[in-house]
This record gives sequence, C-alpha cells and structure tokens, in this order.
Amino acid sequence: MDKDTIRKAMIEMRTALSPKEADRVSQTIQDKVRQRPEYKEARRVAFYYPWKGEVNLLSLASQAVKEGKDVLLPKVQENILVFCPVKTLEDLKPGFKGIPEPDTPAMPLENIDLFMVPGTAFDLEGYRLGMGKGFYDRTLFLLKKHQISLGIAYNFQVVEKLPREWWDERIDLLITEELVLTPSTTWSLKRRKK
Ligand code: ADP
Ligand code: MG
Repeated sequence: MDKDTIRKAMIEMRTALSPKEADRVSQTIQDKVRQRPEYKEARRVAFYYPWKGEVNLLSLASQAVKEGKDVLLPKVQENILVFCPVKTLEDLKPGFKGIPEPDTPAMPLENIDLFMVPGTAFDLEGYRLGMGKGFYDRTLFLLKKHQISLGIAYNFQVVEKLPREWWDERIDLLITEELVLTPSTTWSLKRRKK
C-alpha cells in the first residue's frame, strides 16, 4: 500500500472512534507516558494540538504545566515547525489549516528535551507516516542525540512495515494503549552523529 492509502485509512479509523472511546484510550496512553522515565526526566516537553482524531494529550500537557515543566506547542512557520512555550491552552489562535497555535516566541529547538510526535501510522522499526507534509521529518532530522522523540498513536495505527523514502525519520520510542516500543525491545536507536 502506498503512503496516501495508509494515511487515509488511518485517519478514517481515528475519526470513527466515539468521543467516549477516544477519551478512554487517550487517558490510558497519557498514564503510560506519565510513567516513562523519559517523560519524568524531561523538563521541556513539546506536545501537539490534536487534529483529525489524533490521540489527545492535552490533559497531560495541562498537568505538566502545573508540575512546572515547560510545555511547548508547534507553530508552522514558512515550511517548518517551531515550538513555542504555552502556559494555558486558552491563548491559542488558529494557524496552519486552522489548527490552534501559540503566539509566543519560539524556543530554540535544542533546548527541548522531549517531543511528542503524532502520526497517521508507525511501524515496528520506528518509521512514521505523518499527514503528508513532512513537517516532523524536518524537525526530527534536526534533533541532537540527547533529545527524545516519542511517537504517540492508537494501537491500530501500528503496522509491520511502512513505505520509506530517504527523508523519512524514525522516532526513538512509541507508545500506544497496548504497547511501549523502545529501541532495546524492537529497533535499534538511530545513531545520531550530532
Ligand atoms: P509525512 O512524513 O508527513 O507523512 P512525507 O514523508 O511524504 O510526509 O513527506 C512529505 C514531503 O516533505 C516530501 O515531499 C518531502 O520531500 C518533504 N520533506 C520531508 N523531509 C524533508 C526534509 N528533511 N527536508 C526537505 N523536505 C523534506
Ligand atoms: Mg515522512
């Protein structure tokens, strides 16, 4: 199957979940994230605003603010994602495709410890399919070794192997309601030279 066919099927399945079911599963996923050492140790965490049925991590994000973590949300600037600190989810303004975005100055990418990475599909080697614009491919390419990317998805979004193109980046860790895939369990951590 090509990338577009997989994207469409996954978005359809995501948006077909009832709000109640989506909430329940999102809660399970957030609990799992909260228990991970990568999350506990992170001081600056980039979340995302859920769009087209993406797993909703906003209650974890609000809690992170209360716990004193710096919470960031992405903003599309030209062709790239920048990440801006937010203190409340109330000051967001519609940006790219109407997705709510913060209006604060972006934080330098290298200052962010952990990135929650949404996707339409992930595979068992950590490859990822996005919405088709390559935004997170560009971001992940720039990350340094100490920064962690955490893929977030419903379990049905995990497939054995995705189509790969040379620019496709892998995530370091994947969490669904049923799985935690880490480099040591499934794929070897991509060796970043930077
Ligand atoms: P997605 O990852 O969102 O599912 P694709 O992998 O199909 O989407 O990428 C979409 C577009 O983004 C491609 O045309 C690709 O050329 C572009 N792209 C991806 N990564 C980069 C990069 N590092 N630099 C420049 N363009 C990129
Ligand atoms: Mg890609």
